[in-house]
Amino acid sequence: MKERLCLKAAVSAALIASLAGCANSGSETQEQGWAPDTTYKLTILHTNDHHGRFWHNRYGEYGMAARKTLIDDLRTEAQAEGSEVLLLSGGDINTGVPESDLLQAEPDFKGMTRIGYDAMAIGNHEFDNPLSVLEQQMQWTDFPMLSANIYDKETGERKFQAYQMFERNGLKIAVVGLTTEDTAKIGNPEYIGSLDFRDPKAEAKKVIAKLKETEKPDIIIAATHMGHYADGKSGVNAPGDVALARYMDDGDLDLIIGGHSQEPVCMEEPNTYNESFEPGDACTPDQQNGAWIMQAMNGVNTLVRRSLNSRMAI
Ligand SMILES: [Zn+2]
Repeated sequence: MKERLCLKAAVSAALIASLAGCANSGSETQEQGWAPDTTYKLTILHTNDHHGRFWHNRYGEYGMAARKTLIDDLRTEAQAEGSEVLLLSGGDINTGVPESDLLQAEPDFKGMTRIGYDAMAIGNHEFDNPLSVLEQQMQWTDFPMLSANIYDKETGERKFQAYQMFERNGLKIAVVGLTTEDTAKIGNPEYIGSLDFRDPKAEAKKVIAKLKETEKPDIIIAATHMGHYADGKSGVNAPGDVALARYMDDGDLDLIIGGHSQEPVCMEEPNTYNESFEPGDACTPDQQNGAWIMQAMNGVNTLVRRSLNSRMAI
């Protein structure tokens, strides 16, 4: 049984998670940061699969300036409602547009910093360049790039930061990063030869068990780049977010913010996509084994442009 906090996910609009925590457990202790019978508001904004689109295109689509305007507005809106914002990315910032590729995504990572991202999952395309480039990109950001399941073959240690703790509205929030095992197959062997991409499900379980002992988070979020496959049917792909949620112990994971498959994770009914979903429509995220699963379609920026009208999807 979950004893931390129960989340009433009032998902008010596509891919914006508005989570009101109802702290009403009878077993709370002083260690918990939250008080019983109190509602806490937390707004989670997320993007994924940016793929180099820092600049708008000739049709006026995409662009980080528009994204910043939208996110600034949403922050103001959240603040007015007594909520606080956590801004996450499901990864794959690199590769897709020559202007970005030639600059090794410097404008993209610096733009994300200006927009105020709190953390991101490391995606498979973060390994399209030598590791020295990824290290440089980490210097361009002031937020952590997370992955708990990538190990250095030589040292046997994790190569990257596994998680980051946040405090929002008095809640302790853990964000754990995970990267698809398929990176080992689809990444450039020249650059990833020294890395071991382990099972993200097992690594998540390990990290979360430890976090519950050490950090005692009220909310646990996985920022993943693993893909979402309805009913966990990932086909030739490595297992994705649904498999992750089902693998976890009950109540260990509250929310998965994903990327990679670039699907709008909007469900018609359990395990079935809403095939007619269009950006701007109401979106019911997936829910598996007590965890909400969300992802923002194919390149956030397409949705940002539409969102400027609908104010719904990021
Ligand atoms: Zn990917």
